[in-house]
Amino acid sequence: MPVGQKLLNLREYSRPALQGGDLQDALALLARSDIHTVPLAGGDTLVGSGDRSVEAVVDLQGLNLDRLELMADPSGLRIGALATRSALVDWPRFLSQPDGASIGQEELVRFLAQAARCWGGNVQRNRATAGGAVVVAANNDALVAALLVSGALLTLHSAGGYRQMTLAEFLPGRAVLLAEPVLITEIVVPFREGHFALETVARTPSDVPIVLAAAHVSGATAHLALGGVADEPFFVVLDESVEDASAIAERIAAELDPRGDFRGSAEYRRAMARVLAERVLTNARQGVR
Ligand SMILES: Cc1cc2nc3c(=O)[nH]c(=O)nc-3n(C[C@H](O)[C@H](O)[C@H](O)COP(=O)(O)OP(=O)(O)OC[C@H]3O[C@@H](n4cnc5c(N)ncnc54)[C@H](O)[C@@H]3O)c2cc1C
Repeated sequence: MPVGQKLLNLREYSRPALQGGDLQDALALLARSDIHTVPLAGGDTLVGSGDRSVEAVVDLQGLNLDRLELMADPSGLRIGALATRSALVDWPRFLSQPDGASIGQEELVRFLAQAARCWGGNVQRNRATAGGAVVVAANNDALVAALLVSGALLTLHSAGGYRQMTLAEFLPGRAVLLAEPVLITEIVVPFREGHFALETVARTPSDVPIVLAAAHVSGATAHLALGGVADEPFFVVLDESVEDASAIAERIAAELDPRGDFRGSAEYRRAMARVLAERVLTNARQGVR
């Protein structure tokens, strides 16, 4: 993210919730053609982007979009788009209630908490939201990779109503989809049999991942996401047994064409992708965390 840049052409800030407004009011503000208006979540990326085309922002705070919920039937998780990374990191601490999470939900919550933690310090995590993370979809964001392998569904609201789509469907066309205008209101993570695993390499434990791998394995189906190996998050569904995780990881790594930078050369990234892919496929198959 560029440091020290501001939204120099910003001339309007609105927070519909302060005037008793709702989601439709936010969408109406975004739909105006005479002033270029964009949604503001935590502002972590937007404010530092220095985007001179932005003339107005609509602050989504207060619209009741920050809840974290365990779903009962169907089982799964509901993550409000304005839920912060910190809230996701802290979620496991609130699971030991008498009528708390199922074992599967607990594993999923811990997996997402681990992923949300893989970035920045508390200040950034208190600001940055789940919805912002999927819009930005940084290629080395472990939260995006974890949501991809979990089969996360996004709920998108527009003036005409709402629809759901998987994160994997959303990512490639998100610029066009969001232009409607559309607001992401929540992320639903359906319960899936099987296990999850996440591995990263970084210069220090609190630094951004250089390369990462996330997996979900259930029987003869596996979902694998890799980060730090392409401009966009890499995601693949494997309809095969992952008993020979080494061969699968080698095959996938051979197809990657990562770009090197000061954090890691292309060769290093490809080599790490192979190692981490094998590790997460093996761990998820065996239920090792
Ligand atoms: C490992 C890692 C690497 C990262 N690398 C980068 C990077 O290279 N570049 C970078 O910019 N950020 C990067 N980030 C930042 C990260 O993606 C932030 O977590 C994310 O931007 C969330 O910020 P925010 O909630 O403050 O969103 P904001 O900064 O408020 O918004 C970000 C964008 O999303 C839109 N938006 C936000 N919420 C919604 C919603 N509910 N519906 C529709 N649109 C919405 C905004 O209009 C804006 O365009 C990285 C994060 C990680 C974990």
